[in-house]
Formats: sequence, C-alpha cells, structure tokens
Amino acid sequence: MTVSASIIGAGLGGLTAALALMREGYHVRVYEQAPALREVGAGITVSPGAGQGLASLGLEGELLAASTPIPDIAFAHYRTGALLAGRFERDAPLDGGFSTPRHIHRADLHAILLAGVRAMDSAAVVPAKRLVEATPDDAGVTAAFADGETARADILIGADGARSSVRRLLFEDSPPVFAGQIAFRCLIPREIAAPYLSAGNAAVFLGPGRVFNRYLIRQGTLANVIGLAQCDLWRNEGWNTPATPEEFIDVFEGFHDDVLGLVARAPPESLIKWGLFVREPLQGWSSGRVILIGDAAHPILPFLGLGAALAIEDGLVLARALATGAAPPAAFAAFERARGDRVETVRLESIRQGRILQSGEPDGGAVARSPSQNTALFDYDPRTVALHV
Ligand SMILES: Cc1cc2nc3c(=O)[nH]c(=O)nc-3n(C[C@H](O)[C@H](O)[C@H](O)COP(=O)(O)OP(=O)(O)OC[C@H]3O[C@@H](n4cnc5c(N)ncnc54)[C@H](O)[C@@H]3O)c2cc1C
Repeated sequence: MTVSASIIGAGLGGLTAALALMREGYHVRVYEQAPALREVGAGITVSPGAGQGLASLGLEGELLAASTPIPDIAFAHYRTGALLAGRFERDAPLDGGFSTPRHIHRADLHAILLAGVRAMDSAAVVPAKRLVEATPDDAGVTAAFADGETARADILIGADGARSSVRRLLFEDSPPVFAGQIAFRCLIPREIAAPYLSAGNAAVFLGPGRVFNRYLIRQGTLANVIGLAQCDLWRNEGWNTPATPEEFIDVFEGFHDDVLGLVARAPPESLIKWGLFVREPLQGWSSGRVILIGDAAHPILPFLGLGAALAIEDGLVLARALATGAAPPAAFAAFERARGDRVETVRLESIRQGRILQSGEPDGGAVARSPSQNTALFDYDPRTVALHV
C-alpha cells in the first residue's frame, strides 16, 4: 500500500490534500517555494460541497467562524445601479451552515488549513523548497529542490498552481495563455465602504466588457472588491502587482458611484492587479506515480468563483481514491474518472458566465437567469461523488 506522499505547493489544494491524506494514515510532506507562509490573497468563495468537505476534515468550527454565508447576491446595472432581476435565490434555507456558498478571506482559509495540517504533524509543511526537478520511477518519485536537497516518496502530487513546475517538467512545456482579462482587487474597511453598499452586502455590477463584484468578509468588517475587465495586453506574472485607484477607476469609467466612489477610498496598499491566464485541458492529470491537482491541473476563469472549490474538491476526492488502497495508477485513474466531467463543466460554465456578465448593456433577461441556473454547480459534494477503482 502507498504510504508516503510529496505534495508540491502549500496552496489551498495542496493543504487540503495533505490533511485528507494524513487522516488516512499517509506520511505527507508539503514542499512550498515561499520562504514563509504569509497572509496573502483576498476574498474567495467556498461552495457548499467544498465547505462540507473541509468540515469532514475536522475544520467545521473554524471555517464557519471565519466565513460569511452568501444569502443573496444583487445583480446591478453598472451605470444606474438599478437592481436587475437576478438574485441568488436558493431552495435550501439559510441554516448558518454550508447550505449556501460562503465567502472567506483566502488568508484565513489558508491559515485554518495550515493549522489543521500542523496539528497532525508539525513538520509536514516545509517552506523555502522550490521544486526544480521531479524524477519518477517504478517504486517512487524523487523531488529535487532549488537549494540542492532532494526528497523521495511513493507518490508526488503537483499542487503548485497555475504556473506549475510539475506540469511543465512532466506533462507539457507550454506556458499558460493570457485570457484577455485583467483583474483588480482591493480590501476596504466597512466603515469606509458603508456609504457605497446600498445594493446590499454582496453585489455584482454588470457592464460592457467589465464586471465589478464586491462583498463583505471577516464578520462583515471588510469589503472585498474585485473588478474583471477585458484587456488586450498583460505582461506581469503572479498575484502581487500593485495597482492604483486611478488605474482601477479608469478601466471602470462610466460605472455607478457605488463602484467608483468605493474604489477611490480603497487603502492604496490593498490594490493589486493581475492577468487571467488559461490553458487547454490536459488529456490526463496523472502519469505513473505523479498527479496534478487544482490550478496546476485545470486553471479556470474566476467568473463563478469556483477555482478554490475545485482545488479543495480535488484534494478530498484524491485522498478518497488513494484510501481505497489501490496502487497509484489505478487510484489516480479512478480520481480522474470521478473528476473529469465536473472540472470540464465548471471550466466551460465559467467561460459562459464571463460572457453573460460582460456581454454589453445589461438587461434583466440574460443576467437574471444565470445565477439560479448555476446553483447546481455549487452543490457538488466531494465526500459522496462516486469512485470506481
Ligand atoms: C499568493 C496567492 C494569492 C492568491 N490570491 C487570490 C485572490 O485574491 N483571489 C482569488 O480568487 N484567488 C487567489 N489565488 C488563487 C487561488 O487561491 C487558487 O486559484 C485556487 O485556490 C487554487 O489553488 P491551488 O492550490 O491549486 O493553487 P495556488 O493557491 O496557486 O497554490 C499553489 C502553491 O504552489 C506554490 N508553488 C508554485 N510553484 C512551486 C514550486 N516550483 N515549488 C514549490 N512550491 C511551488 C505556490 O507558491 C503556491 O503556494 C491566489 C493564489 C496565490 C498563490
């Protein structure tokens, strides 16, 4: 039986996989390139299924305390601020649990996962280890790091994000492709944001080629703001390119004052921009004793807010597949069969959602239908999805 795993990347997918595998008795080491695991990122969405999956790893209390349920989302006209017909009405009642999607600061979820992993094994996460080579053989996989050290385990899981080294070294060498979209984000204390929240705690403003999304996180104390706009050219990599309020406002010219006024008051140090990148789907996510999960396997556009959920689901379902005791190729194949349709559906629906949200002068018809049609996408349950090993 497989008993040891090297996981490359301590993001949300890698840490979820680590915790789930350790609870199944695996010896796990998570190798992270960053020298220190710091607070990074901003708001993300945890779908009901991903939330329930994390709860099944013993994180329910922390996760509920740190996240905010999304009772409804107002869809508003970008220029007038008028409420369009769309509201994220769900059949399930708000029960304070995981019956609705929840918003959380990525750093808070990351900290919860990290604490969960370290509680099981304080040495499980190894910072300052950038993978530069991975050499699989019949019995295991040797990982080599930039500092010259190596590590060997029965399997290697590439959870190293959209610019995955594992993918480049062992699967395909082509870089991700710019998707023609730029993202801006900022975090604004509620007391500053309050005058601009007339559309409610969670609102999306739809405009031609642009969509502006803002919601409250951290017990309603912080407004998370994200703007996604079509754009011809983007050069920088990573999540940390500073932006200015003027740039953000310039791109969202013509939007309502609830948008532009809010951005104008953002603490400058919280303003970040990044380009969105995509890849063509891989034929498969595994090869022998190596498998890719999360953004390394299948980066998606963020219009449905399901990127983090997919990475979490991957970690949970992969641990279930390996817990069957099947040899890695068979367990990996079962994982891929279980996940393939789900991932491809979310990928395509995210593209479609982007087209709808940025389609032009919004009218109630097109946008009103999309949120309710999408509720099924949020209810996927990684704890129960069928696995055929
Ligand atoms: C710093 C950061 C900030 C983010 N901020 C946001 C945000 O504000 N909003 C949002 O929607 N999404 C954000 N994301 C992306 C979001 O978290 C992911 O899209 C999603 O959670 C999928 O997670 P993942 O685990 O597959 O990949 P990621 O979360 O990207 O994690 C990948 C991890 O692998 C590490 N890594 C990469 N290459 C190597 C290597 N060669 N060796 C070792 N380690 C390596 C990275 O440092 C990272 O910690 C952010 C991601 C990161 C890394």
